[in-house]
Amino acid sequence: MKKSKVLIVGGTGYLGKRLVKASLTEGHETYVVHRPEIGVEIEKVQMLLSFKAQGAHLVASSFDDHRSLVDAVKLVDVVICAISGVHIRSHQILLQLKLVNAIKEAGNVKRFLPSEFGTDPSRMENAMAPGRVTFDDKMVVRKAIQEAGIPFTYVSANCFAGYFLGGLCQPAIYVDEADIATYTIKTIDDPRTLNKTLYLRPPQNILSQREVVQIWEKLIAKQLHKSSISKEQFLAFMKG
Ligand code: NDP
Repeated sequence: MKKSKVLIVGGTGYLGKRLVKASLTEGHETYVVHRPEIGVEIEKVQMLLSFKAQGAHLVASSFDDHRSLVDAVKLVDVVICAISGVHIRSHQILLQLKLVNAIKEAGNVKRFLPSEFGTDPSRMENAMAPGRVTFDDKMVVRKAIQEAGIPFTYVSANCFAGYFLGGLCQPAIYVDEADIATYTIKTIDDPRTLNKTLYLRPPQNILSQREVVQIWEKLIAKQLHKSSISKEQFLAFMKG
């Protein structure tokens, strides 16, 4: 089967650059959006040039220029967006509504993977503010995709290891970011994932807080002092 051509939006981001690498490694013709707005942000420019040197095509396109978005998505079969979505850093999830409009107008895209890559937002209706904005906005984008009749795959990647593993802070499913990118790319031509959510939860990556602490203890060859709190105390800490 011929491999799909892929457009990556947000390819210079934390996850995006890994998606570009995985797409090239898996042998997809890979297009990466270059936004004129980044000007001479030299690290981004150099990153884009390094993608080009590795075989990617750079496509000039802006969220402020609908025509440029339509032209970009017309080049490919699959669009993957990895635009920012962390409320304490940069959060641009709703900009994707413009991309949804462009994909709808272009009419050629066989699959769209919006910027998700976290906890499944459809299961987060009880999440607390301010973090819940990420889930709420991702649900707005899902609704727009489905109303536009665009074929999709949502990738639920659980917790990025780089973000969460060092904090020792919670029980979680930790997934290496390069693995997330590889699984994502492997899903795009797989009919089983069409119009579905793909959950990444490798059994050995599902760790309790104690298990994470034990791993660190092994690494630093030291036993750590541990004390427990009740769930009531834990919730009380979070108030305010
Ligand atoms: P980044 O913060 O690294 O940003 C990704 C891209 O967003 C950038 O490359 C940038 O593109 C683009 N961007 C930012 N602002 C704008 C703008 N105003 N207009 C257009 N593009 C913009 O993203 P992450 O890799 O951290 O996040 C990607 C996804 O992963 C998000 O959905 C996020 O919620 C999720 N995530 C999941 C985590 C988990 O633990 N599961 C942890 C962190 C994120 P450009 O270079 O063109 O400016």
